[in-house]
Amino acid sequence: MKYRHDTVQSAEYLRLAVKRMAQQAAGLHPASYAIWYEYVAGINPDLRSAIDAYLQRGERLDDQTTYALYAKYVSALDAQTAQRIGDSVTQLVDQVSASAVEAGNQASRFGDSLERWSGELLEPPGPRSQFSLGVEDILRGTREMQSAITTLQERLEQSTREAQQLRNDVARAREEALLDPLTGLTNRRGFDLAIAAAAKEVEAGATPGPCLLMIDLDSFKRLNDTYGHPFGDRVLIKVAEILRANVKGKDTAARYGGEEFAVLLPQTPRGGAVGLAEALRAMVASSRVRQNGKNETWVGNFTVSIGVADLVPGESAADLVARADRALYTAKTQGRNRVQLATRPTPVPTTD
Ligand code: GH3
Ligand code: MG
Ligand code: MG
Repeated sequence: MKYRHDTVQSAEYLRLAVKRMAQQAAGLHPASYAIWYEYVAGINPDLRSAIDAYLQRGERLDDQTTYALYAKYVSALDAQTAQRIGDSVTQLVDQVSASAVEAGNQASRFGDSLERWSGELLEPPGPRSQFSLGVEDILRGTREMQSAITTLQERLEQSTREAQQLRNDVARAREEALLDPLTGLTNRRGFDLAIAAAAKEVEAGATPGPCLLMIDLDSFKRLNDTYGHPFGDRVLIKVAEILRANVKGKDTAARYGGEEFAVLLPQTPRGGAVGLAEALRAMVASSRVRQNGKNETWVGNFTVSIGVADLVPGESAADLVARADRALYTAKTQGRNRVQLATRPTPVPTTD
């Protein structure tokens, strides 16, 4: 663990860091938490001088500056590190919070029994005894302690909520990092994770293996040149809608890049995959997109070509993609707007 502060001290740094974060323009994300934690803990002098320089100019840190400071003075943020920061903040707050609750309960029990006991004391007539004044003193001290602990608990509850918010932000950032902003489909990174997971399932004995559809818009350059790039974008969105609507459960529809999509179908026989590919091809071919936002002219002459391959035992994810791609290329050369099933690799003859 990078931060070696004891729990109580860390909770105090957390509180201070959250307060500082709230004063900035940047979102409450882990990069923001990390720089402010290091700032208030005084463990990163270079970062501190850099931040002080901004503050002295009366500036608030925005997202861009926060990320730049993070990258320069803390370290590159990968999704897992971000998740770990979020988790450890929540854990930390939970622990401190639990001990504060316990301390509060103890103080409360002690105060109650002291009060009961002092009420039962018979006060002798005349000036109040040293003893009963002493009891009152202890009672007051106990109540003060109880109220201080209550305040601490409230502060911790607040920190817990903020830590939860941080965790949600991290989770959202992770999800967004795997989505394509134009179409909302899984992006290339998400697809690579999904195909790696499907290949693992096969290694673990899942049958049938996955099938892969590589889908490419036909003559898309010409479409862009004719109707403009924004129209091309709307066509990509339309195709994505068709894929999303027809791909369910464990299946993954992804934008592989540019005008190319991929659909991964875990545990699917290739006959089923070819059937789905044919249905998708036909749906794209019969769909239409408004020429521009204002008029009623619909354009419908766009199509896709699709290469289909099923993972053969022992084949890597990369080889499966390459085979589906070659089938796609064949579909293109044979005239486009068609589905082509990949040939299976010929088995390597064994020597013994
Ligand atoms: P083919 O049928 O052989 O696939 O021809 P093509 O024109 O589709 O293929 P080519 O690779 O020559 O051109 C791909 C075009 O896709 C060029 C590029 O501008 C366009 N494209 C890639 N990404 C986007 C995008 O996000 N939006 C738009 N509008 N166009 C894109
Ligand atoms: Mg194309
Ligand atoms: Mg292409």
